[in-house]
Amino acid sequence: MNYTDFEFDEALKQRLDSLYSQNRQPHAIVIEGADAEKCKGLATFLTMRAVCRAENKPCGKCEQCIKAREKVHPDIYYAQPEKKSQIYSIEQMRDIIENASIRPNEADIKIFVFESADTRLSPVVQNSFLKLLEEPPQNCLFLLLCKNSRGLLNTILSRCTVLTVKGEESYSEQATELARAVAEGTIAPSEWQLLSALTGFSDRKLADETLAVLTVIFRDCIAVARGISARIDGQLAQKLNKRITTGMALQLVEATELARQKIPQNVNMDLLSAFLSGEYRRIIWQR
Ligand SMILES: [Zn+2]
Repeated sequence: MNYTDFEFDEALKQRLDSLYSQNRQPHAIVIEGADAEKCKGLATFLTMRAVCRAENKPCGKCEQCIKAREKVHPDIYYAQPEKKSQIYSIEQMRDIIENASIRPNEADIKIFVFESADTRLSPVVQNSFLKLLEEPPQNCLFLLLCKNSRGLLNTILSRCTVLTVKGEESYSEQATELARAVAEGTIAPSEWQLLSALTGFSDRKLADETLAVLTVIFRDCIAVARGISARIDGQLAQKLNKRITTGMALQLVEATELARQKIPQNVNMDLLSAFLSGEYRRIIWQR
């Protein structure tokens, strides 16, 4: 295997070497890691590895490698989420299932890549995908990228090779502090504390990062309920866990992700704060 141009740690290289030993080719791989860019890097590596014609794959120089790297290879399909909902629809999955049975054009293999599979593949769509994995068509490779493989059904995971990419997302202290204040505000009896924390959202870039941290904080709340350690703040996660059920935490994650998607669409930030405060209060206080 040729790792030139790719920065993988030794553990990952060893894992890849053994995975591909004796010319094996897995048909479904889950790439899990907090650092989305690193996960995408590994996906690119694997697509190049799969289509490369050279002896020491991926050579990075042949036409197949170049097309894979530039994401213009006709046999490598990157699933695009629906514009509005940001999820992969059931219709899309049906198209993919049909497409998977058709022979590749240039390479010996067809590859389907799903980014953010843990948040963009609903359980219903995962179930239809599962049928494909149960009887995988010949010469296909499916790559599912995710932050957390717990977002995927166990039945899916049991049919995939899971590769973990090390690397933490790093957040600024300012965003982490603001996210903490907002999270504390969600469980405060008076709405004032939440509204006051959300005034920090006047800065668009800071708000975007803060919402990313908040998603992790609410996920931490689910993690500690399951005895898994928190990534941001263990004490805060425990405190939230006393007040918030797992169901609520999932709704909070959804509301936060929805709010975050609105930022690139130039939403008015006061409206965004009002939306968030309304959603958080509705979810936690049922009002
Ligand atoms: Zn090549």
